[in-house]
Formats: sequence, C-alpha cells, structure tokens
Amino acid sequence: MDCIFCKIVGGEIPAEVLYRDEQVIVIRDINPQAPTHLLVLPTTHLASIREIQAENASLAGHMTVVANDMARREGMFDKGYRLAINCGEEGGQTVGHLHMHVLGGRQLSGQLG
Ligand code: AMP
Ligand code: ZN
Repeated sequence: MDCIFCKIVGGEIPAEVLYRDEQVIVIRDINPQAPTHLLVLPTTHLASIREIQAENASLAGHMTVVANDMARREGMFDKGYRLAINCGEEGGQTVGHLHMHVLGGRQLSGQLG
C-alpha cells in the first residue's frame, strides 16, 4: 500500500520518531503549525478515526494517553495543548492514515474551523 505513514512506521521514509510501542509511534510534524507539533499514529494502517468502533476503541484511548505523555515531555502539560484528529476530506484530512495532532507551546487560537 502506498501510504506515507505506513512507510514511516516501517522505516522506509525517515522521520523524527520520538516514541514507539506496539500500537503507536509519535513523530514530529514535517510542517509544524506550533512550536510543538507532534503526530501520534497507529502502527497498523487505519484510514481514519471513522474506523474506530467498539472492538478497537482501546487504540483511540491509548493514542490519547501517549499524546498526554508527550505533552508532559514537551513541557506543555500544565499550560495546555490541543489534540486534534481530522477526518475525511471536509474534515481537512490530507494523509489517509489515522493520526492525532498534538499542538502547543504557544497560545492557540480558539478557532477550530
Ligand atoms: P492532516 O491534514 O490532519 O491529514 O495532517 C497531516 C499532517 O501530516 C500534516 O500536518 C503534514 O504536515 C504532516 N506530514 C505529511 N508528511 C509528513 C512526513 N513525511 N513527516 C511528518 N509529517 C508529515
Ligand atoms: Zn498507512
């Protein structure tokens, strides 16, 4: 499958990997929108958050736990940060492999869309 994030998981495309376990990896976004901009992505290919159902909902929970840990590591846990998941074309998703954005390190705008 021609998926850029699967290639990053598999090591075929280089990325700054900050964390890895069986279920997820965390990389730095190549085009950061804030001083800290990380992506939490599952190691298995899921096209979007639409594929999360009761059977695999623990993956979404794990992504959130890892995102919170990364926010702590990046020193923004107390001040605050934003977790965002874009879904599908109108949701602004540009890479078709589920990922959670972890943004912070400055005052973020209140605007979401
Ligand atoms: P989204 O628009 O929610 O699908 O987010 C996709 C994100 O992936 C964007 O913020 C891109 O900057 C980021 N991105 C695309 N290619 C790479 C890459 N090779 N390494 C790291 N981040 C990437
Ligand atoms: Zn993929």
